[in-house]
Amino acid sequence: MKKIRSFISRKDIENLKSICGKNGWTDKKDVNEKYLTEERNFYKSYSPIILKPNSTQKISNILNYCYNKNIPIVPQGGNTGLVGGTVSGYVSNEIILNLEKMNKVRELSHTDSMLTVEAGVKLHQVQSIAKSIDKFFPLSLASEGTCQIGGNLATNAGGVHVIKYGNARDLALGLEVVLADGTIINGLKKLRKDNSGYNLNQLFIGSEGTLGIITAASLKLFPIPYEINTILLAIDSLEKAIEIMNELKKLYIEKLSALEFFSNFALEIVIKNIPDSLQPFEKYYPWYILIDIEGTKEKDKNYNLIENFLFKNLRNNIIKDGIVAKNLKEKENFWKIRESIPYAQKPEGSSIKHDISIPISKISQFIDESTKKIFKVIPNIRPCIFGHLGDGNIHFNLTKPINMQNLDFEKYQDRINKIIFDIVFKYNGSISAEHGIGLLKKDVIKNYKDKAEINLMKNIKKIFDKKNILNPGKLI
Ligand SMILES: Cc1cc2nc3c(=O)[nH]c(=O)nc-3n(C[C@H](O)[C@H](O)[C@H](O)COP(=O)(O)OP(=O)(O)OC[C@H]3O[C@@H](n4cnc5c(N)ncnc54)[C@H](O)[C@@H]3O)c2cc1C
Repeated sequence: MKKIRSFISRKDIENLKSICGKNGWTDKKDVNEKYLTEERNFYKSYSPIILKPNSTQKISNILNYCYNKNIPIVPQGGNTGLVGGTVSGYVSNEIILNLEKMNKVRELSHTDSMLTVEAGVKLHQVQSIAKSIDKFFPLSLASEGTCQIGGNLATNAGGVHVIKYGNARDLALGLEVVLADGTIINGLKKLRKDNSGYNLNQLFIGSEGTLGIITAASLKLFPIPYEINTILLAIDSLEKAIEIMNELKKLYIEKLSALEFFSNFALEIVIKNIPDSLQPFEKYYPWYILIDIEGTKEKDKNYNLIENFLFKNLRNNIIKDGIVAKNLKEKENFWKIRESIPYAQKPEGSSIKHDISIPISKISQFIDESTKKIFKVIPNIRPCIFGHLGDGNIHFNLTKPINMQNLDFEKYQDRINKIIFDIVFKYNGSISAEHGIGLLKKDVIKNYKDKAEINLMKNIKKIFDKKNILNPGKLI
């Protein structure tokens, strides 16, 4: 990779300010804090200025300028990423380019079931815009109030509806992207079918800002589900949870839109640390499954099917207890429990977190083996396990023992990661199912991905960004 410049002159900064125009940048220290601090506080960025351009042409001009002057750029969306992908100053003196002012809706079509928005539109706004024409945009994450659609695509975000609708990459029809030298690629499409060559859009999706800056996206919209039945089940083993999942998949195939799970420790800390969260069952159980089943017009038929399913599995002792949410409040409480887990972990002190994926058939073995090995290293460690059971994506998070200091616990990070990642590898899983590689896993990815694939990725990076000015040092 070419060596990038480590010094940015005052003149460069003035020139970049003038490309961005009035209100298109900020260099005030206090304002910049939110752009310079990363979600988990693992990294603190340095960037002499935050660029906030409001048009694709301005982004193209910025990149063209930076390309000619060898100035590295870090694209940044809502800054909710969890792997240090948006930080600057670790590899060189990069400048942060935040997309928040790229916030226009370009097209909304009921007939084509599509929406074109600029990259800086927040995910929850994308969902609301779809709703305004009686459509549904299914990507849904706990960070949706802050993360941006450009960031979602750059990380190929998942979330709770992957089981039915897929990841961000399955929801994109086309992209507009600015390349490292400022070239604008207009790949915005409304088409469901296009076999006119390599699918370049898919290369940018999940590339974590290393191949180009996504400036706009055409997205697939879906019919709004008629109704959603939300069910919470208490289970005493993961094997039984998998059994339940298989039965639900058989019964509901297309209708199953979320299938999440969490451990008892996860529930306990939510009840303890998150205000207004309600304990759903009278007793605590080892595991819980949260299910959304999309309904049809035949409301009674749906309800009877669910009721029969519950009674049968209660009788067989597969389910220990189960509640079908009776109203919106109950539904919201169930989902609040699931989505608050990452926040409930914070007051418990340091955690070592993993967003891995495992073939569904191996989930139970993986959790059993990993937990046993981790307990041998730190006997009182508190596993906080939850995730997307339906697609095999597990948040295998480990919270420090009650009596251990944060710093003492954090010293175990590399050792614990190695234990977990080795087991993930053994089961042919992935060390990153959602959050990506960024800076956090950059040094270990080479141990767990095929060498030929890594080499190909490096060569692709060279083709798209031969001067290495786009998010240098991240991912590869
Ligand atoms: C509470 C919480 C829950 C979460 N839950 C989930 C979850 O369920 N599923 C999941 O997948 N993730 C989850 N995340 C992680 C995070 O929200 C996602 O990765 C999200 O997609 C990041 O979007 P963002 O706009 O914040 O991107 P950022 O954090 O700003 O950026 C992420 C990466 O994308 C690059 N990037 C950003 N915008 C662009 C662009 N326009 N063009 C090119 N590159 C760009 C950045 O350089 C960086 O490498 C969660 C995070 C939090 C805090």
